[in-house]
Amino acid sequence: MTEKDYYEILEVSKTATGDEIKKSFRRLAMQYHPDRNPGNKEAEARFKEINEAYEVLKDDQKRAAYDRYGHAAFQNGGMGGGNPFGGFNFDFGGAAGGFADIFADVFSEFMGGGRGRKQSYAQRGQDVRYNLSITLEEAFSGLEKEISFPSTETCATCHGHGTKDGSEAPVCPHCGGSGKVRLQQGFFVVEQSCPQCKGTGRLVKDACPDCKGKGFINKNKVIKVKIPAGIEDGTRMRVEGAGEAGIRGGENGDLYVFVNVKGHKLYERDGASLYTRIPISMCCAALGGKIEIPAINGNKIELTIAPGAQTDQVVKVKGQGMPVVRTERRGDLFVKLRVETPVNLSARQKELLEEFRSIGKEDSCQPEAKSFFDKIKDLFAA
Ligand SMILES: [Zn+2]
Ligand SMILES: [Zn+2]
Repeated sequence: MTEKDYYEILEVSKTATGDEIKKSFRRLAMQYHPDRNPGNKEAEARFKEINEAYEVLKDDQKRAAYDRYGHAAFQNGGMGGGNPFGGFNFDFGGAAGGFADIFADVFSEFMGGGRGRKQSYAQRGQDVRYNLSITLEEAFSGLEKEISFPSTETCATCHGHGTKDGSEAPVCPHCGGSGKVRLQQGFFVVEQSCPQCKGTGRLVKDACPDCKGKGFINKNKVIKVKIPAGIEDGTRMRVEGAGEAGIRGGENGDLYVFVNVKGHKLYERDGASLYTRIPISMCCAALGGKIEIPAINGNKIELTIAPGAQTDQVVKVKGQGMPVVRTERRGDLFVKLRVETPVNLSARQKELLEEFRSIGKEDSCQPEAKSFFDKIKDLFAA
């Protein structure tokens, strides 16, 4: 709890009106709100102070006590017998954190909420998320997939009204149709979902027997989704109206299909480009030749290796990558070569290789290209 003057904290005079205090509080709270100052401890401390000061000065009774006794009014043994802020945790971990709950009454007005508003009768259904995992081959060719997921459907008996006779559901008398009730807890007012209508704002006495008054029934939905060729990992596809049923005539929610493209044992992908590593024999590397490599579409591609190929050399195969979504274009395939050293040589092979070595320029294991050690020497000479 701060020892600073509450009026100073809120940057108002001691004679400020309630409106002036409120205005100043809003301005400062917006300025120092942790969401706007991530990681700024000073702003967070400031924000707490501002809220603490406002909690007192916005209330005429508390303000009068503060004017008379200062901070002592709110310390143990003071007004109300106990620190009203004791045990009160400000949690700014998530987006807006406890902020929204505590100051809902102040902020709802200028955040466009407006407390106590009657909920509109028809309500849009919930959106549904579906995670779809496909292989790289499927992403290459595109596909139509039937998916099934738990959802809701408008009750046909009551046409979504939830009433036995299918008429419009009456407004909940407990909350006046807002679906929310406010409870006083100490100094704080807590808003809760109306326990009578469970937050719907409507209370059905004579409920439809088929949906028990909810206006919808749980049902597994089965729909076909078309995945375009070349779809990228992490793509989100929206299927309008395929989400949960709208309530009391509201429109349906949407279905969002999140596409995950699984990894591949041979290819790596970056956009429309594909990458792979292919081993070639030492002789092929030295003398050149042709090799066959598998393409993503299942075909085989003939690749010409030029003489003198090296490990990590990349050969580009044009147009053998992934398709670019909704175009006729295809990316390229990049093949990285890896020269394999022969093992388990026969006596004859050894003989030939020894001979090969002996007619080389140097009878050593250093390659002909400028050696690593020469490079080191250059480095020291410089
Ligand atoms: Zn019904
Ligand atoms: Zn209610």
